[in-house]
Amino acid sequence: MTDSTAPKSFIHEIVEEHNRTGRFGGRVHTRFPPEPNGYLHIGHAKSICLNFGLAQHYGGLTNLRFDDTNPTKEEQEYIDAIKEDVRWLGFDWHAELYASDYFGQLYEWAVELIRKGLAYVDDLSPDEIRAYRGSLTEPGRNSPHRGRSISENLDLFERMKAGEFDEESRVLRARIDMASPIINLRDPVMYRILKASHPRTGDAWCIYPTYDWAHGQSDSIEGITHSICTLEFENHRPLYEWFIQSLGIHAPQQIEFARLNLSHTVVSKRKLLRLVNEGHVSGWDDPRMPTLSGLRRRGVRPEALRAFAERIGVAKANSTIDVALLEHTLREDLEDSAPRAMAVLRPLKVILDNFPEDKVEWFDVDFYRHAENREELRRVPLTREIYIEQDDFMENPPPKYFRLAPGQEVRLMNACLAACTGVEKDAAGVVTAVHCTYDPASLGGQAPDGRRVKGTIHWVSAPHAVPAEVRLYNPLFAVENPEEAPEGEDFIANLNPQSLEVVTALLEPALAQVRPGDRYQFVRSGYFFADPQDSAPGKPVFNRIVGLRDSWAKQQK
Ligand code: ATP
Ligand code: MG
Repeated sequence: MTDSTAPKSFIHEIVEEHNRTGRFGGRVHTRFPPEPNGYLHIGHAKSICLNFGLAQHYGGLTNLRFDDTNPTKEEQEYIDAIKEDVRWLGFDWHAELYASDYFGQLYEWAVELIRKGLAYVDDLSPDEIRAYRGSLTEPGRNSPHRGRSISENLDLFERMKAGEFDEESRVLRARIDMASPIINLRDPVMYRILKASHPRTGDAWCIYPTYDWAHGQSDSIEGITHSICTLEFENHRPLYEWFIQSLGIHAPQQIEFARLNLSHTVVSKRKLLRLVNEGHVSGWDDPRMPTLSGLRRRGVRPEALRAFAERIGVAKANSTIDVALLEHTLREDLEDSAPRAMAVLRPLKVILDNFPEDKVEWFDVDFYRHAENREELRRVPLTREIYIEQDDFMENPPPKYFRLAPGQEVRLMNACLAACTGVEKDAAGVVTAVHCTYDPASLGGQAPDGRRVKGTIHWVSAPHAVPAEVRLYNPLFAVENPEEAPEGEDFIANLNPQSLEVVTALLEPALAQVRPGDRYQFVRSGYFFADPQDSAPGKPVFNRIVGLRDSWAKQQK
């Protein structure tokens, strides 16, 4: 057992230090600041759990702030989807806010910096600005426009705002130090001209703040205490602090942590957008996508994602998490909650030759592993003709194959013992049916003489079987690191052509009444979710959430 009062991460330690010193008067106020340019993915779940979890832990608040400063890529559809996903994950925000609501305040503050001699209008082109910036080994050079008078800068900036100039003809830059070893302090751009309509502010603005200029000031306006971001922003922190200090406004603490990288997956909205736009997946909520909407559609429960975030923790160094750990967590989440049932994914007919033709033998079987009452039992019928998995029969088995084979006996799960006596084949020599003799004395599962049978297989009664579309998902990328693409190609080249297989499975009759959104363990196979959109009454469609084979647990041994 861990001590529940001990800080859980280095970020908790920082917060507790602030609480001790009274830096924020004991307040904890975080924010989750997505850019509405795509759907949230599992990396965002880590950030959401961290920001909301931290505030909950210390009795604080969390804002949902849309970082909507880039009008060309942002859409209302994304805003709506992000809200749905955060709620689904189990969190509720203190306030829903938009960086674009601060455009007026940011403009006033920019004017204030110009008046203080801390910002100027530059006429260099984007390429020239880049060239003047220098490199890690060389200092930058001052723009020829850096020495403009305050009044000229005020005039030009106002005219930028009024729409007098073309895109890329002028920018507003902070006036810091072109020789700073920290490149972000080499007169970073604060505003660029974009003659684009914004989803919220319409055509009110044709200059838009950069991330660096908008983000810290938005945090400050909202009274955020701890501004948590991913490691790429570590070298933006000096600039974050410079703006705040230069304006003399409330100073949040920026804290960086390692982003989530997951094997066999890409977690970047830009790349996920390409998968959607190029038709490699059916949409943002394709169950193969690492988006929250995709995971939800697949059947993953929010509890499992929260447990996953807790389990991976937060660190200060980047690493890649094996997707097998995520799958292990999904299995753990469903192990106790999902009822069990028998489903045959790739059917092969078996005829029990000595079973009376019209007889139906019913068994009461536990839906769970430890049924506590009658409602947790299901009725399973056995008849003369049944289906088993094709995999569970081999005409010429290798040694140690304990399933069905000529002359070999198996246990039909929950029912009886049966031994194979022969096969039927089609003209091509493919086995079309298997003949068995069952042992009537073993009904209920055990042989009265105590003879041992090593293999147990699942099955369904042929006349009672319920056909259902079952979608078997495999990783979208076949390789561990999809970013490592062959020469001249990109991550798209690593797509797994076998990421989706659709089969018509046969389900035991207890599943005829399945409700969309139900989850089951199909025994010996995996966890499955009745797709809420595609299932119809009496016609369930199942998505495989995760298979039963646990490669994570195996690696740990
Ligand atoms: P992407 O590259 O996928 O667009 P982003 O960082 O640009 O991601 P934002 O919408 O800006 O996406 O992210 C909102 C918040 O989520 C940020 O605070 C960001 O740091 C965090 N975040 C994004 N991706 C991850 C990740 N893989 N792991 C942890 N946090 C992440
Ligand atoms: Mg981004």
